[in-house]
Amino acid sequence: MNTSVSESENFVLLSPREEGDFDLLDIPNHPVYLLASKQKAGKLSQRRPRRGAPVLEAVQQSGRSRLLLLPGTAGLVRRNGQPSLPLELLDIGDEFRYRRREYFVSRQLGQRLSLATSAETSARCPLCRVAFEPGQQIYRCTCGSILHCMDDQDVAEDERLECARMVPSCPHCSESIDFRKGGLAWRPEN
Ligand SMILES: [Zn+2]
Ligand SMILES: [Zn+2]
Repeated sequence: MNTSVSESENFVLLSPREEGDFDLLDIPNHPVYLLASKQKAGKLSQRRPRRGAPVLEAVQQSGRSRLLLLPGTAGLVRRNGQPSLPLELLDIGDEFRYRRREYFVSRQLGQRLSLATSAETSARCPLCRVAFEPGQQIYRCTCGSILHCMDDQDVAEDERLECARMVPSCPHCSESIDFRKGGLAWRPEN
């Protein structure tokens, strides 16, 4: 199998948290182990843990990118409610469970629209000065600056922070705001 997947179409795992937020795990361009964690979503590690863990790797199959899941001996991983096979090829929208956490497969289509990670909650939006919340949709400029960009239809329109839509260019580097280049390819409803 050819394992080259361009960076612009990296797979991500979305793991639901309370209150409709998601933890977001970026699958890199090499095999990683999914480590279980009691409180948080799993962490990805290049090193094989002693007890073993499921392996995830982006692969090409018949010209399409798929996410290879090898459950290994680490315990039951269920895919879409079914017992998992020794080898699973996952696609966008697929779901699996490992150690009580639920993971949805999606793909990052670029670096522009994505979800704020927990690490980004210490930052404030340069436009409205409001702190980011994990799982909030954000606009990410190529310079690394992030701006609010909520599309949430269940949030009242005047409470939606859509800072990236209010300005023509990034306040940090002046690159024009361009929505055509990014976002999550899919996300579960609720
Ligand atoms: Zn803002
Ligand atoms: Zn910028």
